[in-house]
Amino acid sequence: MRVLVISDLHANLTALEAVLEAAGQVDETWCLGDVVGYGPDPNAVLERVRAIPNLTCVLGNHDVAVLGQMDYAVFNTEARKSLYWQKQSVNPANLLFLESLPQQTVVCGEVSLAHGSPRDPVWEYVLNTLVARLNFDSFGTPYAFVGHSHLQCMFHLDLHKDRVTLEVPPVGEVLPLTGRAILNPGSVGQPRDRDPRAAYAIFDPQDRTWQPCRAEYDIAAVQKRIRAAGLPEKHAARLMDGW
Ligand code: ZN
Repeated sequence: MRVLVISDLHANLTALEAVLEAAGQVDETWCLGDVVGYGPDPNAVLERVRAIPNLTCVLGNHDVAVLGQMDYAVFNTEARKSLYWQKQSVNPANLLFLESLPQQTVVCGEVSLAHGSPRDPVWEYVLNTLVARLNFDSFGTPYAFVGHSHLQCMFHLDLHKDRVTLEVPPVGEVLPLTGRAILNPGSVGQPRDRDPRAAYAIFDPQDRTWQPCRAEYDIAAVQKRIRAAGLPEKHAARLMDGW
């Protein structure tokens, strides 16, 4: 069984299309939120996501903001500008879809899905081993998949030593999962780990393997649309180097 794991699409249709094509045939798709925010294609990305068969999707902080359920003051100036623009552009059917999403869920009985972290699904970033360790007490499944940091990485808990390690597994490698882990597939639409290629992962629940992957896409075309929409230049510039 192949599960496509995606997160932080951020209204970047070109990156999403590249990932869906590169991933090929999958049995299910799990999306960890932030479908909107930053990018130029909120409606097109929402429509593409809604059309994905066997989809499980949770809410990210940008999705919650576009729904009007979060104070925009908590976002930085540029992110806020994009959110205002997106809130006005997203059509009612797409808003209804966002409204239907949960903040967290459990799939296959053994994976917890959340955008930020299992203990604070919309906001907390899992960026270091201490926060990861504290979060292992907040979910009952062997694995949790999270996004939000836009960093493709994995926190592994050694059950015998009670020690958490942070690993950045090589792209393309199929990793057998042991013990417990918090895994981040990286960001489709705005990678921040200095690799500008769209990030995603393939999870096999039967074999218990995780494969971090990247897909190249036409970054210049997306930058052009960001500029044409009058969105902050920073959101266009950062895509080229992945920061
Ligand atoms: Zn995000």
